[in-house]
Amino acid sequence: MDDGARTAAAHRTLSADVVVVGARVAGAAAATHLARAGHDVLVLDRAEFPSDTISTHVIARSGMVQLARLGVVEALVAGGAPPLRRVELTSHVGTVSKDIRDRLGISFLLAPRRYALDAALQQAALAAGARLRQGCSVEGVIRDSTDRVVGVRAHDGDGPVDVLARHVVGADGLSSRIARSVRAALTIVEPSSGACQYAYVTGSWDAIEYHLVDGVFAGVFPTHDGAACVWAITPEEVARRYRHAGRGADEAFVNLLLDRVPELAARVASGSGTTPVRGMLRMPNHFREACGPGWSLVGDAGYHRDAITGHGISDALWAAELLAEAVDTGLRCPALETVAMAEYAANRDRLAARIFQITVALAAFPDRDTFVGLQRELALEIDVLADELHHRPQPCRREAPALERQPAVSLSLT
Ligand SMILES: Cc1cc2nc3c(=O)[nH]c(=O)nc-3n(C[C@H](O)[C@H](O)[C@H](O)COP(=O)(O)OP(=O)(O)OC[C@H]3O[C@@H](n4cnc5c(N)ncnc54)[C@H](O)[C@@H]3O)c2cc1C
Repeated sequence: MDDGARTAAAHRTLSADVVVVGARVAGAAAATHLARAGHDVLVLDRAEFPSDTISTHVIARSGMVQLARLGVVEALVAGGAPPLRRVELTSHVGTVSKDIRDRLGISFLLAPRRYALDAALQQAALAAGARLRQGCSVEGVIRDSTDRVVGVRAHDGDGPVDVLARHVVGADGLSSRIARSVRAALTIVEPSSGACQYAYVTGSWDAIEYHLVDGVFAGVFPTHDGAACVWAITPEEVARRYRHAGRGADEAFVNLLLDRVPELAARVASGSGTTPVRGMLRMPNHFREACGPGWSLVGDAGYHRDAITGHGISDALWAAELLAEAVDTGLRCPALETVAMAEYAANRDRLAARIFQITVALAAFPDRDTFVGLQRELALEIDVLADELHHRPQPCRREAPALERQPAVSLSLT
């Protein structure tokens, strides 16, 4: 084979109704809803699964409602994520302990490891008929002569591949390549906030715990194999100070807990650490434009907030359902696409707004009375959101594939 023939053989073109870039919470959930609605969905991810990602992983009632709608709660429990039935907040006013109320069909919360959560969501997508290509890195979108996005250019172990599609979903996380490629503008920007560090520790953990001391919000999320995700969120300068004083991330984390949350530090010391400390510094707080001709963003790709409210997974899950409905409408009836996508954008911003504001306020570490008051407000807002999500009509399920395929012409990569 000459060089020209080898190049031609290596460059492949695939097609789908929808290509979803990113196969974790937002991408797998969007793919499941779209495949259940009868569309041919191809999901691409540069990662190999099952695998972890940087994230602690408690799921609020709003997210549990969405996991129930996706039908994955039983699989997560069967896979070893312990049902969590109690939440404790320890602060300067003492310890408040609350049982999780049985509401909206949710009687417990979960904090599954991401390798398990993302795999369960991917299984749901595959069972619905979506296709998944792992180890496939997307470089940018492909546009037609009208500037509409009509696919993505990617490469995998076999070389470059173009995937043509009627809609491209960017579910590729905070540093979204799709967002950059379509030049999605930031629409709301608040200052980036602090640092979140965490490690897995075996021990006797049975409740979700939150510990508030001056300038540190720490906690415990019991998870698989008798371990808990033990975490601490601080302003950036606090994390840096400990990091500079210690001999590395693990020692800095232990010293921070010893100084600021000694009761928790003692329990950590009596267990055994199962992973090195991981985390994120300077967490962005912003919204990006949610959609444009032929493309949309969902999950962290479109909306990112500090981890202090532990609500990113829940946000990604409900936004994926809203997005899938809008994309479904546009694929079935192109005349309605613009209106449906605008509605997705408006609803995303409306449903995310209040918890975003609370997140930004908490991440600024106000005085402890204000902090505790904001936590109460957060619990109420999560209940309001969970109610609205629970009472939405169930996403549609159809057997038939979508109609009205449109050929892509005059393609260019951006
Ligand atoms: C330290 C920390 C703690 C957190 N704790 C919590 C918590 O307790 N509870 C909670 O609800 N949320 C929490 N979050 C937030 C939560 O992790 C995110 O909101 C959630 O992961 C968003 O999911 P996603 O699917 O949008 O993006 P991601 O999980 O980031 O997935 C994006 C996927 O896209 C893929 N990808 C990226 N670029 C490309 C490309 N060019 N080509 C192909 N694939 C690509 C990646 O490989 C990845 O698999 C936390 C976040 C952090 C940083």
